[in-house]
Amino acid sequence: MNISVVGTGYVGLVTGAVFADLGNDAVCVDKDPAKIEMLRAGQMPIYEPGLEELVHRNVADGRLSFTTELEPAVRRSDIVFIAVGTPPKASGESDLSAVEEVALGIARAIDRYKVIVNKSTVPVGTGDLVRDIIQRNRRRPIDFDVVSNPEFLREGSAIEDTLRPDRIVIGAPSQQVAMTLLELYAPLERPMIITDVHSAEMIKYASNAFLAMKISFINAIANLCELASADVTQVVKGMGLDPRIGRDFLQPGLGYGGSCFPKDTDSLIQTAASLGYDFRLLRAAVEVNRERAQRFVALIRKILDPVEDRVVAVLGLAFKAKTDDMREARSVEVIQGLLEAGARVRAYDPAAMANAKAVLPAVEYCQSSYDAADGADAVAIVTEWNEFKLLNLERLRGLMRRPLVFDGRNIYEPERMRRLGFEYHSIGRRPVFPA
Ligand code: NAD
Repeated sequence: MNISVVGTGYVGLVTGAVFADLGNDAVCVDKDPAKIEMLRAGQMPIYEPGLEELVHRNVADGRLSFTTELEPAVRRSDIVFIAVGTPPKASGESDLSAVEEVALGIARAIDRYKVIVNKSTVPVGTGDLVRDIIQRNRRRPIDFDVVSNPEFLREGSAIEDTLRPDRIVIGAPSQQVAMTLLELYAPLERPMIITDVHSAEMIKYASNAFLAMKISFINAIANLCELASADVTQVVKGMGLDPRIGRDFLQPGLGYGGSCFPKDTDSLIQTAASLGYDFRLLRAAVEVNRERAQRFVALIRKILDPVEDRVVAVLGLAFKAKTDDMREARSVEVIQGLLEAGARVRAYDPAAMANAKAVLPAVEYCQSSYDAADGADAVAIVTEWNEFKLLNLERLRGLMRRPLVFDGRNIYEPERMRRLGFEYHSIGRRPVFPA
C-alpha cells in the first residue's frame, strides 16, 4: 500500500519505517527541514535501538523516503497517518494545533478517496474535528474517512512494540473502513480491536491513566513503607504474584515522566471536567507523582546538610532508560532542586546528555559514571539504565569523597550496598549504613 506518515518523531518515524519494512511504500513527512535533512543524510534525529538499521535498509530498498512536502505525499497515498505532537497547554488540555494544521493540509491536497488515520494521542472527539476540517476545506467533494488508531509503543523498545504490539486498536466509522487498516496490519498477526472512533480515542487515555495510577499507587505505598519500616520491594513481590495485580508498573521510584503520562493524565482530567465529571481518582495520582522529585531532593538535602558546595553526581538524565528523551524527565526537577540548594551537580547519561544540555545548562557533564562520581559527596541514581546496575561499585566508592548513594530507582540491593561500604538510601526501603 502507499502510505504517508505526517510527523516524523518517535511515533511517526518508527511507524513509517516498520510499515516500509512490511513491504509498503512509505513517505514520512515533517515540517522541520533540519529533521528531514538529517534523515535524508542517513542520520537519526532520535535515539531508538535498532532504528538506524531499519531506516537504512528500507531507504536502500526504495520503500521509505522523507519529505517536508505534505501535498504530494498525501496525493500518492491510500492511507495518511497523522503522528504529530499533541503537547500540553498551560491549562493541561491537549494542544491540537499541529493536528489541525495537518488536517487542513490534507484537505487542500486530497484528490481521491483516502483513509486518514489519527495516531497522535488526542482527546475524544478529535476524529470528528479532523473530519470537519477536511470537509470544510477540501477543494472538491472528495470522499474520505477518519480512523482512530492510537499508538502504544514505548520509547526504548519502539520497534519491537510496533512489530509485536499487545493489541492494535482501530476505531473506524464502519467495518469496511476498518478493513483497510486490518489489511495493513495483518502481516503482524497481532490481536486487533475494531471499535468506534470515540471509544478508540478513549482506550488510549484510559490505558495511560491506569498505568500512571499504578505507578502513583506503589509510590504512595512506598511512602507508607518508609513510615512503617516495611520494605516496598517485598510488598511488590507479594502483590505482584496476584495475577489480578501483576508486577508491571509497580516499581516505586521518582515517578513517571516523559512525553506521554504527564500530559495524557492532565488531558484526561481536562476532558472529564469539560464533560462535567470530576476525575478525582486521577487527580490524586497526578498529585502523588508531582511530589516525588521534591521528596527525593528533600532527602538528599537532609542527609547532606549543609548542601552548599557539596558535589552530587547524578546518574541518568533521560526520563527513562534506553531513550534520549528529556521531556518531563524527573532529572530536571531533581537537579534544579539540588542547584537551588547550592549543590554542584556533575551528571552522566548514556544517551540524553546532548538534549539535557539545552534544559540544564548549569551542570557539569561527564564522560562516564566513574568520571561523575570522582570526588563526589553523593551519587544520585535518577534513571534506571542497565549500565548503572552493572557498575563496579567498589571502584565507584573508591572515587567518591563520601560513600553515599541515593537511589531514586531502587536498582541496587541494600544489603549488598551495606557490605560494599556505602550509606545507601532508596525508595520505600530502610536506609543502610556501612558495616
Ligand atoms: P515528537 O515530538 O517526537 O514528533 C512529532 C513530530 O511532528 C515532530 O518531528 C514535529 O516537527 C512534527 N510536526 C509538528 N507539526 C507538524 C506539521 N504541521 N506537519 C508536519 N510535521 C509536524 O512526538 P512523538 O513522541 O512522536 O508523539 C507523537 C504523538 O504520538 C503524540 O500525540 C504523542 O502523545 C503520541 N504518542 C507518543 C508516544 C511516545 O512514546 N513518544 C507513544 C504513544 C503515543
